[in-house]
Amino acid sequence: MYGILDKKLECTKISDEEVPGLSSAEAEQRLEAEGRNVLGGKRHKGAMKIFLGQFHDVMVMILLGATAVSVLLGQYTDALPIIAVVVINALLGFIQEFRCEKTLEKLEAMTAPTARVYRDGVLKTLPAEMLAVGDVFTLEAGDKVPADGYIISAKMLCCDESVLTGEAEPVSKQVRSDEVDFSSLNKSYMAYMGTVVTKGSAVVRTTATGKRTQMGRVSVMLESIEEELTPLQKKLAELGRTLAVICIVICFIVFIAGLLRGEPLFDMAMTGITVAIAAIPEGLPAAVTIALSLAVRKMLRRNALVHKLHSVETLGCATVICTDKTGTVTQNKMKVTAVSDGSGNVIETAKLTSELPDTIKELMVCGTLCSNAVVKEAPTSILKSKKNTTRYTAEGDPTECAIVLAAADFGITSYTLEYVRTDEIPFDSESRSMTVICRGTKGNAVSFKKGSPDVIINECTAVLTAAGVKPFVSKEKLSATRIGDRFAAEGLRVLAFCRIADGNTVFLGLMGMQDPPRPEAAKAVRQCGRAGIRTVMITGDHKLTASAVARQVGILKQGSLVLTGGELDGMSDERLAEVIENCSVFARVTPAHKMRIVRAFKAKGHICAMTGDGVNDAPAVKEADIGVSMGIQGTEVTKQAADMILLDDNFATLVNAVEDGRTIYSNIRKFVRYMIASNIGEVVTMFGGLLMGLPMVMLPAQILLVNLVTDSLPAVALGLEPPEKNIMEKMPRRENDSFFSGGLLWRMLIRGVLIGICTLGTFSVLLRSGAALPVARTGALITLVLSQLIHVFECKSEDKTLFSVPLFNNTFLLFAVTASAAVLFAGIYVPVLSKIFSTAIPDIRCLAVSVGTAFLVPGLSGAFETLKNICRRKTFDIPAKGQN
Ligand code: ATP
Repeated sequence: MYGILDKKLECTKISDEEVPGLSSAEAEQRLEAEGRNVLGGKRHKGAMKIFLGQFHDVMVMILLGATAVSVLLGQYTDALPIIAVVVINALLGFIQEFRCEKTLEKLEAMTAPTARVYRDGVLKTLPAEMLAVGDVFTLEAGDKVPADGYIISAKMLCCDESVLTGEAEPVSKQVRSDEVDFSSLNKSYMAYMGTVVTKGSAVVRTTATGKRTQMGRVSVMLESIEEELTPLQKKLAELGRTLAVICIVICFIVFIAGLLRGEPLFDMAMTGITVAIAAIPEGLPAAVTIALSLAVRKMLRRNALVHKLHSVETLGCATVICTDKTGTVTQNKMKVTAVSDGSGNVIETAKLTSELPDTIKELMVCGTLCSNAVVKEAPTSILKSKKNTTRYTAEGDPTECAIVLAAADFGITSYTLEYVRTDEIPFDSESRSMTVICRGTKGNAVSFKKGSPDVIINECTAVLTAAGVKPFVSKEKLSATRIGDRFAAEGLRVLAFCRIADGNTVFLGLMGMQDPPRPEAAKAVRQCGRAGIRTVMITGDHKLTASAVARQVGILKQGSLVLTGGELDGMSDERLAEVIENCSVFARVTPAHKMRIVRAFKAKGHICAMTGDGVNDAPAVKEADIGVSMGIQGTEVTKQAADMILLDDNFATLVNAVEDGRTIYSNIRKFVRYMIASNIGEVVTMFGGLLMGLPMVMLPAQILLVNLVTDSLPAVALGLEPPEKNIMEKMPRRENDSFFSGGLLWRMLIRGVLIGICTLGTFSVLLRSGAALPVARTGALITLVLSQLIHVFECKSEDKTLFSVPLFNNTFLLFAVTASAAVLFAGIYVPVLSKIFSTAIPDIRCLAVSVGTAFLVPGLSGAFETLKNICRRKTFDIPAKGQN
């Protein structure tokens, strides 16, 4: 029932009393008593904390304080709208932040470490935090040890304990004999929480969990679990602070000037504070987190699980994607399509009949014995539905599944063979081979080995031919190698097989496996090309196999290089730096090579995304700018080291994630542009009115209303913009580019000033034409809000105008704008609200002026842009003429 692991347990002979571990009920009791298996643990923000956090802003607190004073003075009408708007704003902020927090918690749970534990006698994958003392868990290469425990059984187990001991060399581990010291470090029979299994497998019984583990005791050494702000959030927080200082100075001037003009002190104080609240973009970092978390949710739906928020930003800057081959670019659905025996006969498997030649039969026997994949009769439903030629299915490593299925088609399965497996040297990507030690019916020991042809052919001393066993000399070795190369050049993965008995290593032949590229891979590679991103394939497979597959999907083009791990070893860093820009495929590489490749690309200024799955890939994945782990094939350590996990192991998913990364960055730019231009507009309105000697253009409650309807919903909606059509046609953004590159700052400034001027225009025109002050204020309110709601559509694109931008492709934005406009007009036309916000119903002329002026803003802005472009062209023309 337990597949591969079960097989391993069989041959390690664990005594019965030690295998079952805990029952669910027992585990629950112990968890209750001992607590969960976590170190310290992260404090999650509760709903109340999030809600109160909305008021955690000096300016809001000052405003609430001032409002309290006004209540004490009996001015309820002033206080009510202010409190109402502040609370509604806080509620909106709360809803967004709460959802964002929930998303992050969900992500955290999805990426939390897991453990394979025997519960009620059944092996289950559970969150590591559910482990209790007494639980029995299994370990395999690539696992992070989930708790401290003594080793019940082990096979070649090696653990990297550097996190605990600082010792870089992995230590080999043995089964516990009698010793029972479970609380000291450096015990060879103990596996310690947080250490990494680099090799082998084991079954372990838990002795300590959580803070009682060795890791728990030294948890001060652990990486800080404080959430860091992303680089973008830091930049925006900085910008927010700068703008805050500017705003406060302006507000102070507004306040003093008001006083000098004889306005009442309290009114001026309220106005100054309100302008500050409306204008200071202190909510920007939070807005970015919300936008990022929404993006992360969307990415999850597309099978990319983001581990660290900041990687969403970095994804948009990726210039190189280094991808695995097997399972990422290819489907990992292997099928043996050709075999070759020791005599050099090459046969397509489709042409094999049930009368197998003896040599091929031996090859199949070796393959079956030397595989951990478990073959089963296919359920009849599959047989009927698929017109299947094979009666079997297999579970396990796809390479091995292909082998056991090929053999099963000819009636060769591990159940029919007269060998009992006694031990195994597992496959690892360094040795590129795997060996099993078996006992025959006569008690004779025979080993079977499979692996990459170069390794196996080199080791063999004899060869099995149709005429019996013969010496395996250079000529035969060369011809076997040539056949392997021929298979590889057709894109097949090639494995060689041998039998070791009586001091002879006998070559049995080769198998060639087809693993077709994923249908979407070629398109994704082309998409990367257009987006200015290089795709590089890194694989442990043969150079020729790798090249063939890379050619099929368009990674390897005429003139690009293919390097092998061996060639890399013989190359200095300087030489590698010279050639790396031209390298598209790295074959026969080990994880250590991956690290060198990442560093070489980074040294060339690239932003490098690197995929990994194996146990030793973690350092390279960590070193890459964007470390990507496979969700299906990936080991626990690699997943923990990664910034992102591809749940379907698919290369195309990674490319989609890059698109999402670019989209969200551009969306953040959109809403920052919108929010800051709006804020500038509000400050200019208030400050300009003062300079022009006008009465106060807007009352505090009105400013808060503007803030409420313009800042919250439309800004969030901009964060949800769908990707622009050309987003993957542009070159990647440079990581150290200013956030405001491409004239964004300038645009925000111009637009903000124009909004302010037009609002002032409405106000003074209405006043001059004899309108009452409340009507003029209402007109200004309409112009200010509408011009911002129009601007939101312009912010949808940086290179399109209001007339060319797709206006209706973001339903949430349409809803947000409609809702905001509705609230504005409700504030004017609903009598209670009109009273609260001191608005007045405008006549048709006044309405025409205020709405018309709002629409004037984009026109003026367009004229301004045109003028700027003409001036710029003129400036460029002058030296050109001079040169002529
Ligand atoms: P990637 O996933 O990075 O594209 P890969 O999966 O092809 O690479 P490895 O799994 O490291 O790379 O395999 C390297 C070589 O080892 C293969 O080309 C094959 O010859 C051999 N090999 C792969 N799997 C096994 C196995 N289960 N047993 C024995 N040899 C194997």
